[in-house]
Amino acid sequence: MIKHSRQRNKVAQRILWSFVIASLIPVVILGVLSFHQVSQQLYQQTYSVLQNSSKDYGLRFIDRLVLAESALRLLANRIERSSRGLRDQNLFRDQKLHKQFNDLAIMTKNGQRASLLGDTRMVPYLTEAEIEKVRSGLTLIKPVDSDELGIKQIWIALNFNENTPDAGILMAELHPETLWEFENIGINQLLVLTDVGQSWFSSLPNTFLPKPLLTEFLNKFSGNFNHKLGNEDYLGGFWQAPLGNMFASPHIIIVQAQPKSVALNAIDFFTKIYPPLVLLTVLIVAFLSTKLIAKYLSPLSVLKKATERVAEGQFDYQVDIKSKDEFETLGDSFNEMTSRLRSQFEIQSTMAEIDRQILSLLNADEIVETALTRLPGIMFSDLISIAKFDADKQFIKAVHTRRNNQHFDLLDQSLELTAEELADLQNKQGGVLEVESHDDLPVYLKLLKLTGNWHFMIIPVVINENVSATISFAYQQNTPISKELKTIARNFGDRIAVALSNAAWEEKLFHQAHFDGLTGLPNRLVLNDRLQQEIARAKRDSKQLAVLFLDLDRFKNVNDSLGHAAGDALLKQIAEHLSNSIRTTDLVVRMSGDEFVVLITDIDNPALINKIAGKVLKAVDTTTVVAGQSVKSTASMGIAIYPIDAETSEDLLKHADSAMYYAKNDGRANFRFYSAEMTETALENIKLEHELRTAISKGEIIVYYQPKFDSGKQIIGAEALIRWNHSELGMISPAKFIPIAEQSMLIVEIGRWMLEQVCEFVKSFINLGIEPVPISVNISGVEFDRPDIVIKTAEILKRTRVNPDFIELELTENVAIGNRELCIERMHQLKALGLRLAMDDFGTGFSSLSYLQDLPLDVLKIDQHFIRELETGINSQAIVRAILALADGLHMKVIAEGVETEAQLIFLQEHQCQFFQGFLFSRPIPASQFVQLLLEKQPISA
Ligand code: C2E
Ligand code: CA
Ligand code: CA
Repeated sequence: MIKHSRQRNKVAQRILWSFVIASLIPVVILGVLSFHQVSQQLYQQTYSVLQNSSKDYGLRFIDRLVLAESALRLLANRIERSSRGLRDQNLFRDQKLHKQFNDLAIMTKNGQRASLLGDTRMVPYLTEAEIEKVRSGLTLIKPVDSDELGIKQIWIALNFNENTPDAGILMAELHPETLWEFENIGINQLLVLTDVGQSWFSSLPNTFLPKPLLTEFLNKFSGNFNHKLGNEDYLGGFWQAPLGNMFASPHIIIVQAQPKSVALNAIDFFTKIYPPLVLLTVLIVAFLSTKLIAKYLSPLSVLKKATERVAEGQFDYQVDIKSKDEFETLGDSFNEMTSRLRSQFEIQSTMAEIDRQILSLLNADEIVETALTRLPGIMFSDLISIAKFDADKQFIKAVHTRRNNQHFDLLDQSLELTAEELADLQNKQGGVLEVESHDDLPVYLKLLKLTGNWHFMIIPVVINENVSATISFAYQQNTPISKELKTIARNFGDRIAVALSNAAWEEKLFHQAHFDGLTGLPNRLVLNDRLQQEIARAKRDSKQLAVLFLDLDRFKNVNDSLGHAAGDALLKQIAEHLSNSIRTTDLVVRMSGDEFVVLITDIDNPALINKIAGKVLKAVDTTTVVAGQSVKSTASMGIAIYPIDAETSEDLLKHADSAMYYAKNDGRANFRFYSAEMTETALENIKLEHELRTAISKGEIIVYYQPKFDSGKQIIGAEALIRWNHSELGMISPAKFIPIAEQSMLIVEIGRWMLEQVCEFVKSFINLGIEPVPISVNISGVEFDRPDIVIKTAEILKRTRVNPDFIELELTENVAIGNRELCIERMHQLKALGLRLAMDDFGTGFSSLSYLQDLPLDVLKIDQHFIRELETGINSQAIVRAILALADGLHMKVIAEGVETEAQLIFLQEHQCQFFQGFLFSRPIPASQFVQLLLEKQPISA
């Protein structure tokens, strides 16, 4: 645990190091100081010991000499007093004497020597000066070289009789062991030398003394030294014994020395023992400090961990430190800080969430829901209640309340506020309203039926001067609400105001973007969304769905003839009929103009689609009165089914659209199911339609003329036939592009252009000197249905100033089917312009022969179909015969179209058909060729 925390805790490591270093420095300094001190002391001590010991030795040395002197004097006395004199051997048998002296001798006045003890040969000679000194009464100390290295024999000499110098000199060699005290020298080295530098005694192996040292000895009375003697360093002390004051002798210097190593033995031990001691100290310090650090810093790691948690956003993390010191205070402050942070964070995140909702265009309900769930925790309230107002009429339409995490929705019907309550709220916009429960509670709080003592804080949400909501926080304890809390509450109020007004605005925008303004039906955007969802659902449930694409038949005519307002009214009606014709789960969408899509979902039985399609078509097939006129409407419809026809919403729509075109081509007011072949054609058609728009201006549209003949093979007229010389595809048959032009209404423009071309062409005959023949122009049903057909045709005739006698209009039977009266009237109007009218393709339509008699027609064109079958079909022969007979009765000319064979011609001629058109005579030819034919004919008739 200690190790763990140390590893993690850099602070702990640092403290540990400082402890160790802090302890190490004084310990080391102390060590060095004490080493210095101790060694200094040891030096001093050794010096003083050696010096004292030298002095001691010197004094004792003098003592021994004095003692030896008096022993000699005593002996002399005894010899003098003895009757036998020098020959009294008893005198010399004294043990004490033997111990003191090695040799004993007497030297007479004339220089003769007599041994008293030991050997006379050993007795040294005295010099004249020495003898004189002794005779003068002094005791002589005489060093004599000995056999032993470094040690001199010391002789002492004195007058045998003090009063009679001629009595001779008594001489004795001091016993060396007694004199030098060999046993007392001990570990120290001893050196005795005279004040002139003569060595008497040296225990050192090498007697040579360094010069400076010797000088020091000789110059000083006493002292000490630290010097190398031989191979070793020595510490030493010296003392000068004043021997010369008592004897006829030089002063002597006693030197005692000790090897430095021995002297400093004690400090040597210290230097050995000290480093481990330091180490031990450091270890103890480290151990103790780790313990302490662990104890004192564990709250720190707790705090560190807590801080990390808070940094991760865990604001509910609390620390528990019971160290009864600053750390505990710090822990408490930390807990307080985190709880503050938590509430700050809550406030911030709720604000952020509301802001997000403002931006993410959520609806008002979701904003209210967020406020209900998030605000009580922040505001510390026991209850929250949000009253939603009808912003325009200023009554409450809903009250949502949340208490103890339970949600209550109150109010089924609207609730009125008093003028006073409303004024209260309006006055407090931008502030908060406080209410006590014993006050007269406003109605939206009374509604809650709270019992007990409550205190309320109400935030009015005011948008554009109108109250759109109130947010009420209720507190059970009657404590005053802090200013801070009120500010927060107000802040939320403002945000919610923005959110709500935004939501309202966005809802409006959403509606505008997703719903058609005229019919109120959803638009293309909604369809795309729904279709994708429904496809996914159908896929999951293995069901089918159908896309019905409707296009109103001839809607443009309504717009053009009755005005846009009428068209709009019709669309609205149709939308309503469509909506009523389907289940609520299905969808009706207005795609554009007069196009609608119906989405039928959840189909288990494909046979049902037929039924539904029929029902939808029938709903549109109505007569509606718009602008005072009854208008009959029908629609053509294409159907694509998921997953049979396509699997994507885009393809389904495209296919349904293609199928719708086929339904249109099939004579409108019906429906077609999509089939694979349609796509290619439909695509091609779309391309063609696009190109057709610019074909005229590009000069790709030209007029061919197919001459008409009489029985004498004379040209009696021609039919103008349109040709499209496509830049890439070459000549395109009108059978292919006319339906496309009709579908897209381009036929109107094309038709006028054709008529104009033909008029100009007829007029050009005059200049060419050609006698004019009537030229017929095909008028499509789409053109004829347009109410302006008469006006526009009149305009062209007027502009080209052509003689209308030579212009013939070919109409198809179908034009008269929609509205018979209108049709007849229009034909009369056209005829009134001076034109001729022909009924084209007669026999293919619905009209019976009797139907013809009311129509102001000049020509009947028998459809090619019958002519082609003349040779084979009995039926056709009968029909052709009947048509010819009838026309004769009605005074109409009859022309047979598509005459290709002689046999056909013969049959027709046999039945009094007088006019012919067909490949047998001529194919359609360019204008120039036709002019050529006319020119060739001129001379014949002329
Ligand atoms: P339509 O009005 O019945 O025109 C006669 C069609 O029969 C022409 O075809 C002509 O070339 C063709 N035809 C003539 N004699 C024979 C024959 O002996 N054998 C065969 N097999 N065909 C013969 P075209 O030119 O291809 O026109 C086709 C249709 O396109 C026309 O049928 C007409 O309904 C329409 N159309 C042509 N030009 C115009 C126009 O300017 N305006 C309008 N609205 N429709 C036009
Ligand atoms: Ca025709
Ligand atoms: Ca025809």
